[in-house]
Amino acid sequence: MVFVKIFKWLKKYAFQIVFIGAMSCVIFVLDLPDGRFHAYFLDVGQGDSLLIQTPGNKHILIDGGPKDYVMQELGDSMFFFDRTIDLMVLTHPHSDHVSGLISVLKDYNVKRVMATFVIYKSDGYANFLKAVKEEGAEIFVADSKTDFDFGDVFVDTLYPFSKINGQTFKDANDSSIAMRIIYGDKSIFVGGDIGKSVEEKIVAKYKDLKSDVLKVSHHGSKNSSSDVFLKAVSPKIAIISCGKNNSYGFPTDIVLGVLKKYDVKIYRTDLDSKVEIVF
Ligand SMILES: [Zn+2]
Repeated sequence: MVFVKIFKWLKKYAFQIVFIGAMSCVIFVLDLPDGRFHAYFLDVGQGDSLLIQTPGNKHILIDGGPKDYVMQELGDSMFFFDRTIDLMVLTHPHSDHVSGLISVLKDYNVKRVMATFVIYKSDGYANFLKAVKEEGAEIFVADSKTDFDFGDVFVDTLYPFSKINGQTFKDANDSSIAMRIIYGDKSIFVGGDIGKSVEEKIVAKYKDLKSDVLKVSHHGSKNSSSDVFLKAVSPKIAIISCGKNNSYGFPTDIVLGVLKKYDVKIYRTDLDSKVEIVF
């Protein structure tokens, strides 16, 4: 009797079952990793969050933006079943970079975490440190020797030159981790919210900073993106991560002007929403 009932039910809903099955397959295939390098500059409002998907399907998340807007963005950008972040980086402890990472640590399997572990007093940063501990992820204190080789993609940490854990900074922006994400002959420069003085230190130390893509430091603040720095990086594309009509007036006309002067193509998360770069 039970089998007859099940058979009748299957017959009645055959079309719906086949349709849902077919749609699931389409979504599944669309979502599958495609063997290319993807960088998603996530739309997290006034803050920063960058997700890298390597051709070998590893995920690197640099900053998490304010609140937990990053969760929706990760859900939209990552393969449906994939809940693993292979490397999480917190550039510096300000809330527009750290807050979203707390939710990610709770909901995803985070394998490695790199941060400066400077001293900074805020609830968000304290909650991040607690969540990292609870996650049991492998912890890396950032310095220029702490690099990550994913086989196809190389994360080259440039700044801080040596470890700064346990130190207090008057301006936490200048404690930001700066790095180049390198894939073959392509690269992306990411420098959190570093200001001009740190940019100049980096330019003085490294001979080759040339990068195809620049994540513009400090959301396009006039205190970053110096002439000498842009000349050294000489990006073709610049991404500015900032919130719509943000109260800081980011990005500033000064920075937009300098980028235009060097003929850099500009994309902005406040105007373009999530920006995806594919190599
Ligand atoms: Zn910021």
